[in-house]
Amino acid sequence: MAFVRCRRDLCGVICLILTYFSVFYADYVVIQYVLLPAFSDSVWSSLHGAVFNLVLTLLLACHARAALADPGMVPLPETAMDFSDLRSQSSRMNERGCEGWSVCSHCETYRPPRAHHCQVCQRCIRRMDHHCPWINNCVGELNQKYFIQFLFYSGVASLYSMVLVVSAWVWRIRNEREGDADKEAEETPGKHLVVAHYIILLVESVLFGVFVMVIFYDQLVSIITDETPIEQMKNRLMMKERGSSSSSSTPSSPQPPTHTRKPKLALLREVFGRGSVLCWLLPLHSSPPSVGGITYSALPDYDV
Ligand SMILES: [Zn+2]
Ligand SMILES: [Zn+2]
Repeated sequence: MAFVRCRRDLCGVICLILTYFSVFYADYVVIQYVLLPAFSDSVWSSLHGAVFNLVLTLLLACHARAALADPGMVPLPETAMDFSDLRSQSSRMNERGCEGWSVCSHCETYRPPRAHHCQVCQRCIRRMDHHCPWINNCVGELNQKYFIQFLFYSGVASLYSMVLVVSAWVWRIRNEREGDADKEAEETPGKHLVVAHYIILLVESVLFGVFVMVIFYDQLVSIITDETPIEQMKNRLMMKERGSSSSSSTPSSPQPPTHTRKPKLALLREVFGRGSVLCWLLPLHSSPPSVGGITYSALPDYDV
């Protein structure tokens, strides 16, 4: 049940409402105050209307999938686990090829490497990137693709809105200069209202556009460096600790985890799937994110 995954987080719900309101407001202004008055006599009105609404539809579809998809929750154990002898358990897990697994004290379960606990979702998420209030969900191994697609289409829609509004505004100014001001006033009453809508949509587009492009860039960097923001922070802290204790260095000093160096395209394919690059733009289910992805069938074998 997809809707069961919707978090009851007030901040997340407010951000969801704000996202949908912003999208529908942009569509209303573009059609009502940009395309119909400025391009009404040409085919451009229908063409821009169709393309703009296609971008918004893809944006909403990606958002819905990112918000409702399982981000990669680590399953909870059916029965309570006994962690009284953690040291011997972890050495047994290492012998069985499960090196790097750890115990989450909140979920009281074993979790694979790169899984982290989310305080909002109250669950451990595989390759957790961050908890995003704009999708009211975590961004993790299984929904990062949809989240990045949502950012991409938000950026495209913002840029498209800006271009259309500026074009319509220039068209209006030209009309006024050419002496059609009276005719214009008859056709579109409430000129100040129109200008107010233009300004609001421009501000909305600039704010959202810059915001999503910065996150989009960060997401791509974290994929091609194979390091989530949480891991970056942990590694930085580890390096700091190592630096401060370098004078009294002991063999048990924490070492930052090292991931396999993979080609950038392979890392991108792990997130976006193994299909054609064109499929990366569509919110469709792709092949499993990693070869030999994490399976939990071995969990009952851990003697816990
Ligand atoms: Zn947890
Ligand atoms: Zn979360």
